[in-house]
Amino acid sequence: MEIVVRGTKVEAVKGDITKVEADAIVNAANEGLRGGGGVDGAIHRAGGPEIMAECRKIGRCSTGSAVVTTAGKLPAKYVIHAVGPIWRGGKHGEEDLLRSAYETSLRLAEERRLSSIAFPSISTGAYGFPIERACPIAIATVVNHIRRGTKLKHVIFVLFSEDDYKTYVANLKRMVEKT
Ligand code: ADP
Repeated sequence: MEIVVRGTKVEAVKGDITKVEADAIVNAANEGLRGGGGVDGAIHRAGGPEIMAECRKIGRCSTGSAVVTTAGKLPAKYVIHAVGPIWRGGKHGEEDLLRSAYETSLRLAEERRLSSIAFPSISTGAYGFPIERACPIAIATVVNHIRRGTKLKHVIFVLFSEDDYKTYVANLKRMVEKT
């Protein structure tokens, strides 16, 4: 499922982000940049030790921010490690921090003049952010960014489960109806 916003494709696909051939794939990282389970573990496993070596040099990344490394053996050129918030009930700035994690990733992609970027569903796994609330934030942040002007030609949301994919498709359709 895809929509086009000012000439930029915004697409939802079901699959494994480590296989995606985008200029950058985004990792749902943690503040210590030390790897972990979920998509973070998958990226480091598939990409090899080079990515972790760079993460160690960088050190840390605050929640709501992101840092860039190369992508090791992955088909992507870069990995953008974005740190989403841990869900603590919704009244601790979680929505703003999630938006900021997406915005920072997009800004880093623009600075490198990338034309494609792939996002996982940041914070909705181990960090517990409800996907029904996270998905509209992810899509709106990307669409608003594109409307302000972008070099990106293709933004891909890569969803690991059928349910998450369906949530993204429903929200992308809603976005089309609104505009
Ligand atoms: P967080 O700690 O930010 O919640 P997780 O990695 O636990 O990050 O989960 C984020 C999302 O990434 C979840 O929806 C999870 O199912 C999904 N995920 C896990 N592995 C992959 C993968 N290889 N490709 C894409 N998404 C993945």
